[in-house]
Amino acid sequence: MAPPHRERSEPFENGCICIICVMVKILRDKIIDVLKREDYGVTVNVKGWVRTRRGNKNICFIALNDGSTIKSVQIVADLEKFSEESLRKVTTGACLSVNGILVESPGQGQQAEIHATEIDVLGEADPATYPLQKKGHSLEYLREIAHLRPRTNTFGAVFRIRHHMSMAIHTFFHERGFFYFHTPLITASDCEGAGQMFQVTTKNLYNLKMDEKGSIDFSDDFFGKQASLTVSGQLEGELGAMSLGAIYTFGPTFRAENSNTPRHLAEFWMIEPEVAFNEIEENMQLAEDFIKYCVKWALDHCQDDLEFLNDMYDKELLQRLNSVIAGEFVRLPYTKGIEILEKAVADGHQFEFPIFWGADLAAEHERYLVEEHFKKPVILTDYPKEIKSFYMKQNDDGKTVRAMDVLFPKIGEIIGGSQREESYEKLKQRADEMGVPTKDIWWYLDTRKFGTAPHSGFGLGFERLMLFVTGMANIRDVIPFPRTPRNCEF
Ligand code: ATP
Ligand code: MN
Repeated sequence: MAPPHRERSEPFENGCICIICVMVKILRDKIIDVLKREDYGVTVNVKGWVRTRRGNKNICFIALNDGSTIKSVQIVADLEKFSEESLRKVTTGACLSVNGILVESPGQGQQAEIHATEIDVLGEADPATYPLQKKGHSLEYLREIAHLRPRTNTFGAVFRIRHHMSMAIHTFFHERGFFYFHTPLITASDCEGAGQMFQVTTKNLYNLKMDEKGSIDFSDDFFGKQASLTVSGQLEGELGAMSLGAIYTFGPTFRAENSNTPRHLAEFWMIEPEVAFNEIEENMQLAEDFIKYCVKWALDHCQDDLEFLNDMYDKELLQRLNSVIAGEFVRLPYTKGIEILEKAVADGHQFEFPIFWGADLAAEHERYLVEEHFKKPVILTDYPKEIKSFYMKQNDDGKTVRAMDVLFPKIGEIIGGSQREESYEKLKQRADEMGVPTKDIWWYLDTRKFGTAPHSGFGLGFERLMLFVTGMANIRDVIPFPRTPRNCEF
């Protein structure tokens, strides 16, 4: 016969004295689950951090949050049962374990609250020094206490959404038969990011070995040659696509570009799908389907957090998210885009940077096309070959390449991609013209020698997607511990 021990979180005062019940006591419930329960009268246990405490000399109300949801549960402590002294350590930031009876809340919203029978302070937080005392700290200040900011409503919401976006990405590709392909973070080929790579070395920087010409000799370094952190997994990703058919990468990427903008990090996460046999049109469709899927996932899975961010930071957030999944993205050749921008200038619109055919677009130009002209996301294609990488497929006009950047409201470029040059001769020639050291990427060129095929791919900056989905304005606020020039704390 099964032992008569209690169901999860039922009161064990029902006479059950089996060893399991006595040992486990009341199992902890996550607050997200407690708030949905309606079996009022049972005893529950919750653990979490005090957000606020208020009350009078008869009663004390504690808002307790455990991170499982943006909502805090209200703990009600009757001061007849708890002495003022025993509640002295219940201050903002303290960690509590609370047993109590689940009670239907008399307030609006019909959510459960807990009438405390036992309060254990697991960890105190001295009110004189705990930095998160009041609500409404500035985002700048919160960056300085990044070790504690996940405890705020804002960053709790952002980081829960970040998790859900990761799941959306893996699910999207997995459902479509893509394989998650792990490309290296340490690389010895700097064909993409000359000048913006972080070096990796075990050498003593104060005692470097030099050759006769006075250049550093890396032969005694860890890898026997100069190595860096990757700026993109694309080249290796292409090797995956040319064997597994369709792959994606999702990992950290490093760029030592000294650009102090709200859209650049020195360490960010990138998603890079790469697909054999896809031409540029299919690549564009994949990018559009992919972003829409992620945005829809956020709307479906992160409603409470999005509503909070919408109310607190960006009153148009939800409307913008919904409008992106509703309409088609515009497809526009670069040359047409330049015409529109030149017309805007002729009509009196002022840009900080000059605009002409051949110019690399600045975020202000990208946002003009998206926000002012089309009022929709735009996929800009067929860029001048001079401003794009050597591996992009050349068009017959001899001037442009099959590049595609996806431009988004508030962000500018969110995705950069292209159809890849599959001809060995054209690829080699373009690499030579652009000064790419092909001796380091003989293995990449080999794919064009052995069974080459049309193929395409793109890179989505994960934090750029996060900026769009959360409505936050600064990329430092969508990654837990941002790395930017002169900032590597935590
Ligand atoms: P930008 O012109 O905005 O600097 P990029 O053209 O240098 O970007 P790509 O090399 O095309 O960027 O990289 C692919 C994607 O990675 C970009 O579309 C963007 O979403 C993201 N990305 C690039 N650089 C950064 C960065 N420093 N921080 C965060 N995300 C980035
Ligand atoms: Mn780009």
